[in-house]
Amino acid sequence: MTGVVSNTAPSPGAGRLFVVSAPSGAGKTTLCNAVRQRFPMLQYSVSTTTRAPRTGERDGVDYHFISTAAFEEGIRNGVWAEWASVHGNYYGTSAAVIDEAIRNGRHILLDIDVQGAAQIVARFPDSVTIFIMPPSIAVLKQRLGGRGTDDPAEVARRLAAAQNEIDQRGRYRHVVVNDTLAAAVAELSRLFASYIADNGNGAAPDTVSS
Ligand code: ADP
Ligand code: 5GP
Repeated sequence: MTGVVSNTAPSPGAGRLFVVSAPSGAGKTTLCNAVRQRFPMLQYSVSTTTRAPRTGERDGVDYHFISTAAFEEGIRNGVWAEWASVHGNYYGTSAAVIDEAIRNGRHILLDIDVQGAAQIVARFPDSVTIFIMPPSIAVLKQRLGGRGTDDPAEVARRLAAAQNEIDQRGRYRHVVVNDTLAAAVAELSRLFASYIADNGNGAAPDTVSS
């Protein structure tokens, strides 16, 4: 068990917990960055991972980069609100960070995989879950290759996992297709605004968009 407070129905002034997932390369990081710029009140949950930093990634900003032994110690100590092994590395969300955001009524954004999202929804049923879809597998492949951050074996591993992740999009409250970047940013921004506008209790319908 972790020290995470339980979250039932949102109360007036309560923050929202947003969960965004996508197959690797669909554009989740790009879209989350755009949303964070537009909604500065949205706290970003910096995940912890055992994966090696990519060029340009900063410890404590993009991820907290730690060793496998340290991550596994965190598992034993109940440090993670959710955690999963993704593409051969551990990734986890700090329970303390979520706990604090909820206590303080802040909106918080989690960029996590489908396994982690399921754990968060089980614990926080009012989470606003959003799945980002690539327009096609062919485009996903182009984007993964074009990003230039992963070697061919890693790209193949991520592509192989993509269909299984996409198959789980029906578990999400909203689905947004990231075809044209501007259109996807606009759609996501409308979505976030609908929840955030009313001080965290926006009455956005549980529709699947796009
Ligand atoms: P993820 O975080 O889902 O793995 P990224 O945000 O890193 O994906 O995006 C993967 C690559 O695709 C990056 O090079 C990014 O610049 C590019 N990209 C993201 N969205 C679009 C888009 N709508 N059109 C074209 N390229 C995109
Ligand atoms: P990447 O290595 O490309 O940054 O991320 C790989 C995958 O791990 C993505 O699907 C991303 O959403 C997911 N991920 C990042 N942080 C977390 C986390 O804290 N928990 C879980 N479960 N997945 C995460």
